[in-house]
Amino acid sequence: MNSKPVDIGFLEEKESWLLHPRFFPSKVGGKPAWLDLKNLPSSKELTCKKCNDPLIFLCQVYAPYEDKSDSFHRSIFIFICKNGSCCQSNCADNIIVLRCQLSRRNDFYSFEPYKEDENEEFPMSDFPKLCNLCGTRAPSHCSKCKKTYYCSRKHQILDWQKGHKEDCSNLQQETTFNANNFIVTEAGKSILFKEWELIVDEEDEEEATNIDTNKEMEKLTKLLQEKKGGSLSNIDDAELEQYTRGLPVDKVFNKFSKRIARHPEQVLRYDRGGTPLWITENKNALIHVPNCQYCEGERQFEFQIMPQLLNFINVGLENNSIDWGVLAIYSCKNSCNQGPAYKEEHIIKQDLN
Ligand SMILES: [Zn+2]
Ligand SMILES: [Zn+2]
Ligand SMILES: [Zn+2]
Ligand SMILES: [Zn+2]
Repeated sequence: MNSKPVDIGFLEEKESWLLHPRFFPSKVGGKPAWLDLKNLPSSKELTCKKCNDPLIFLCQVYAPYEDKSDSFHRSIFIFICKNGSCCQSNCADNIIVLRCQLSRRNDFYSFEPYKEDENEEFPMSDFPKLCNLCGTRAPSHCSKCKKTYYCSRKHQILDWQKGHKEDCSNLQQETTFNANNFIVTEAGKSILFKEWELIVDEEDEEEATNIDTNKEMEKLTKLLQEKKGGSLSNIDDAELEQYTRGLPVDKVFNKFSKRIARHPEQVLRYDRGGTPLWITENKNALIHVPNCQYCEGERQFEFQIMPQLLNFINVGLENNSIDWGVLAIYSCKNSCNQGPAYKEEHIIKQDLN
């Protein structure tokens, strides 16, 4: 068994400018803080395979390979389609995972860490323009002001309706404009997930004392209950803890609940080379992980996103919204550097039913 401690991730509010790419953040929501600022994925890559809408940035985890010089900086990005109808049980076709890595000496950032100075200049003029709304690569621009860029017609129309209509004429007068702002606009708030810093720390064995465990478990239980469809077998009442009473429980779910009860508000578990904490028994041979398509080497489990994240980004409770039980991310074991700057990795979406 794997005895090394698991790192778990919590969310904290943070001023947007402190989540700029130069600080190599782990974060949820808002715009992606790209690592390689030049060789961005195309808008086509970030399009939902099911409905063709632009995928929306969900989160990124900064996870360097300390012993590999070409991954001194390394981030994993997750994008998801926000249409509930594209979200199907135990199917991750509405999600894409991208890995990007850089040497300590690279074309974008200084060798030494940046100071936390809000007014520090970080010129972006040499890099591709980003969508004013969602922060992904933007091949087209507003034909009136020629200063605002978009990934898609859909986001251009939305931005026009939600504010650009007023800003556009002002922008036409101005001589300079930074079209690569990582700060979320008012219009952006209508489609992006709420922005948080993701703090990743070692899981301790003790139950957390400064949070209301029962209240957090209640929230999670409610979330999972509303999503339950079929009933699960192997219910053993004697095994139920007080906070899972009333839920259809299998042994795996029971273990899942006990483990997360230590830190009910965790949104991520990072355990590179370990095994995921599944939410339920795997019924249909879910876990087939293909080899890396760039180096053909093996992939390994790296981290998982927990269903609690849904509580923090204001989705998951309405009908027909996106949801998940567990999102397990598998990445190239060697963290190879072949292929494009943003390399696709494998994700398994496991649902409670
Ligand atoms: Zn879709
Ligand atoms: Zn966009
Ligand atoms: Zn305009
Ligand atoms: Zn590889």
